[in-house]
Amino acid sequence: MTASPLTLTEARRHATPAMRQYLDAKAQHPDALILFRMGDFYELFFDDAVTAARELELTLTSRSKNAAGGEIPMCGVPHHAIDGYLVRLVKKGYRVALCEQMEDPRKAKGLVRREVVRVVSPGTLTDSGYLESRESVFLVAIAPEQAGGLPKGIPAYGLATADLSTGEFRVSQHAGASAAALVADELAALRPRELLLPSENGATPTMPGLDAGIRVTGAAPWTFDLNHAIRALTEQLGTASLDGFGLAPDRHSAAICAAGALVHYLRETQKAELAHFATLEFRPEADYLLLDAATFEHLEILRGANDARTGSLVAELDLTTTAMGGRLLRAWLQRPLASRDPIRDRLDAVGEFAAGTTLRTRVRTVLKCVQDLERLISRVALGTAGPRELLALGRSVAAIPDLLPIVAELRAPLCVKLVGELDELADVRKRVLSTLTDDPPALARDGGAIRKGVDPELDALRNMSGDAKHAIAAMETSERKRTGITNLKVRFNRVFGYYIEVSKSNLEAVPDDYTRKQTVATGERFSTPALKEYEQKVLTADERIVEREQALVEELRLGVLAEAERVQRTARALATLDVLATFAEIATRRDYVKPAIAEDRELTITDGRHPVVERTVDGFVPNDLHLNDTDHQVLLLTGPNMGGKSTFLRQAALIVLMAQAGSFVPARAASLPVADRIFARIGASDNIARGQSTFMIEMQETAKILHQATSDSLVLLDEIGRGTATFDGLSIAWAVAEHLVSNPRARPRTLFATHYHELTDLADTHAAAVNYHVAAREWRDGIVFLRKVEPGRSDRSYGIHVARLAGLPPETVARARTILAGLERDELSRGGRPSFSGPSIASDRTQPQLALFERAAPPPAEGEAAERIRSVDLDETTPREAHALLTDLQRLLGVDDSERR
Ligand code: ADP
Repeated sequence: MTASPLTLTEARRHATPAMRQYLDAKAQHPDALILFRMGDFYELFFDDAVTAARELELTLTSRSKNAAGGEIPMCGVPHHAIDGYLVRLVKKGYRVALCEQMEDPRKAKGLVRREVVRVVSPGTLTDSGYLESRESVFLVAIAPEQAGGLPKGIPAYGLATADLSTGEFRVSQHAGASAAALVADELAALRPRELLLPSENGATPTMPGLDAGIRVTGAAPWTFDLNHAIRALTEQLGTASLDGFGLAPDRHSAAICAAGALVHYLRETQKAELAHFATLEFRPEADYLLLDAATFEHLEILRGANDARTGSLVAELDLTTTAMGGRLLRAWLQRPLASRDPIRDRLDAVGEFAAGTTLRTRVRTVLKCVQDLERLISRVALGTAGPRELLALGRSVAAIPDLLPIVAELRAPLCVKLVGELDELADVRKRVLSTLTDDPPALARDGGAIRKGVDPELDALRNMSGDAKHAIAAMETSERKRTGITNLKVRFNRVFGYYIEVSKSNLEAVPDDYTRKQTVATGERFSTPALKEYEQKVLTADERIVEREQALVEELRLGVLAEAERVQRTARALATLDVLATFAEIATRRDYVKPAIAEDRELTITDGRHPVVERTVDGFVPNDLHLNDTDHQVLLLTGPNMGGKSTFLRQAALIVLMAQAGSFVPARAASLPVADRIFARIGASDNIARGQSTFMIEMQETAKILHQATSDSLVLLDEIGRGTATFDGLSIAWAVAEHLVSNPRARPRTLFATHYHELTDLADTHAAAVNYHVAAREWRDGIVFLRKVEPGRSDRSYGIHVARLAGLPPETVARARTILAGLERDELSRGGRPSFSGPSIASDRTQPQLALFERAAPPPAEGEAAERIRSVDLDETTPREAHALLTDLQRLLGVDDSERR
């Protein structure tokens, strides 16, 4: 009879002592799967077992129970394979608590002591199989303002970020009306693996505008308490106060609360010292160029069009030699600078590397020998570094003496500062390289990690073991001689230890002092008192060798850990040099120029190019751009679809962003005032794919720009208003452009691309608005895109040409031409006066859409098609429905399958 499965509550009543340990661990970590170490396995019980069996495809068994007769669902994974299983569970979004045996079961009296030694979650898993080497793994904590500081009612958020795999730890604070939006923007840029929010009694925490893709973990609200946070931080950072980090409890309480809660969480889950978290960087908002989530996406900075790295700016620029450099480059593009001097410092440093080709090549060659020091030293701090990682660290720092004489030539202030931060770490190098063998095992317990001559005790043990093994090996010859059994063998296996094997035919000759151990098919296996004695010696020695080696590796780890801060500082300097040299390398290979950071407010780019597009098309056409406060503040860009408008907009933003990150730029010359924010609203196809209302999103993003942009911002708007009816769209586009050019509070430098060429009239009435167009020429009834941006309005939109190129049926194209001609006559009939230039126009242009169809009544099918198009609610239409509708309409208009493309 199978007993019914036991629940946790029932189990507690009848629990065995080990099960009680398990239940205690579960009670402490109710939201985690408990992996409970029992001998060679980690076992899971109850619902955890059911979950793990399903997720890991393990066999679900049961642990039969006691008096009550119930059964506990159970499954297990072998301890040596734990890492792989951990990664799989965490990737699926689970938290996992490892409950270890805290003493050697062979030596324990009674029940083995067990404790949870580590809780692993998406934000705290540092297994290299889980990490992308060139991406950080961020764990973020957000604290709403709790105590003092700001006047009541002003929202403030602290946002703390940690990367457990590198020890990177920083915090920022946002206050005021747009605080929540800025937090959301920062989250979008960071893409954290896990987000920590205060939550009461295990309720699922949330905050407005949170991306559903982020894994949220609740933490007790008291861990976000200001006093607790100050204590946690000062304890972790080993300081008396937080002043040294630029944090004042009365002004930065939200930041402190977030950072404190984050430290508390890390210490609780890792149960480790976290010595690699030795400093905290406070980032004042104003120091960085802010980019919101939408801008990030539209500019394809970290991800290209289909959410992959390919086609992104970072993919084009990342020629760094080290993984640390790769991560830093990414971070610089994620958060470019916004103050002049630090930007110039970076650019000067890049300039020096760009000028010195030999020097740069030599630096990059040496850096190739440097492994991921940041992650290695973190593993040292977390106690997960084995002999191989320690050796990798030692070999990496061994490259520094080669680097120092090369970089000593550098004169740019930033380079000089970085070189000053490079520590030769000769002590660390010597210690590691003289302790570890050249090819050590991954784990100390596998033996062979420590060099001969390092430790007299280990050497003696090794000699002892070697001598005994030697003696055993010699026994084969001596026993053969003594017994006359010529095929007698001395062998070893893990179960029976050392034995003498005698084949069946020779059993007669076995002497009396042989004791039988085992019978096998071919003969018998024996031991002798002498063999037993040597065996004992070998086993004892080998066991002590393993213990000694483990102790020595641990000693080495602690020795390296004591220098963690120096290693980290050096690693950071190496990463920075790597990025600077990479920017120079790119600049040389791709013909980029050093931008001037302007003192005035004139933005000038000569022959600018798009850094990604120029590498994918032949004959990219460079373009100039001029923006200022007076007569080039809002640049209205018209021209045909496919003419190159969005590319021109994007390249302007990328050039500004790259310059503020410290990179040279794809242009012949550039002089750029520092921007505080970039807003880009370009293209909408990605949203259509998600089935959301494009128009609504477009308007939300536009609203945000109008609210948040300042006169120092760069604003890019592409085809605003396209998602609604023509006259709605035009009106909105007009009002938005007018706002940008005339709002006294903020007049951001703006590029405004539009296919409504009526909008060009704005330049007639506003001095700061100016018209440009991308040139195209009609040629033999077709169109040639020149991709050149030229002053003045485009004479026409060429939409019909593009439609024809796209394969619209000839009769539809012809019909469109007729309608267009009619419309144009209508415009000209008003004495050549542009139709939207002033208030008087509204009265003399009544219901133009109706007039259109009055002039030339369409055939019935077209009338019906038009009616159906008109009645579509775009906000409610999915891409699939739109496709179905178009198919219907084509059928209605008699387009047969052969004409369809
Ligand atoms: P629009 O926004 O006007 O519709 P895009 O900027 O999307 O046009 O450009 C359409 C295509 O033209 C791009 O995919 C690119 O291949 C090409 N293109 C754009 N700008 C240039 C340029 N300056 N030189 C060469 N090709 C370009």
